Amino acid sequence: MAEHLASIFGTEKDKVNCSFYYKIGACRHGERCSRKHVKPTYSPTVLLANIYKNPAHDPQCKMTEEELQEHFDLFYEDFFVEVAKYGEIEEMKVCDNVGDHLVGNVYIRYRYEEDALKAVEDLNNRFYAGRPLYAELSPVTDFREACCRQNEKGECQRGGFCNFMHIKKVSRGLLDDLYESQRKSIRMLRHSHSSHSHSRD
Ligand SMILES: [Zn+2]
Ligand SMILES: [Zn+2]
Repeated sequence: MAEHLASIFGTEKDKVNCSFYYKIGACRHGERCSRKHVKPTYSPTVLLANIYKNPAHDPQCKMTEEELQEHFDLFYEDFFVEVAKYGEIEEMKVCDNVGDHLVGNVYIRYRYEEDALKAVEDLNNRFYAGRPLYAELSPVTDFREACCRQNEKGECQRGGFCNFMHIKKVSRGLLDDLYESQRKSIRMLRHSHSSHSHSRD
């Protein structure tokens, strides 16, 4: 029995827990959902909802594809560097969806759960682009499960209103640069810690 419950937990067969919240960290019914959204106490993933404001969503927008990509890359870099202060980042994903519960959502999966917890506590006291941030631990740990497979093949009929993640692509090279500089600063940190312990001897 318990085994059966464990195998259906968070799937569509689970009549108690919401599969969308469990897999994608957000569901279109929000607080009014008839199924449970069980917020994790521990998770390596932090969700900041509705952060990235894509200028393309403004009907008056006259930016070119190139300018839009540059706008996004600048945001991605800026935000990555900001949240990397709390610990080593494994993945950071930004949603390209337009539905209220997914628009501009940023998911950050840290290497360590304690860093995610630190990030949530601190980010909740901060502002970004003039608005207070709201951060929470998210049950999402596997982005392959959260992403829309059709979208990856360029075939999603629901477009931006899809209830699975449509991830916004970062320019080639930027991710490599960000992870490389993260690795460097972690190495420097370790080095300075070990030289401290030497000086104490
Ligand atoms: Zn739900
Ligand atoms: Zn889709």
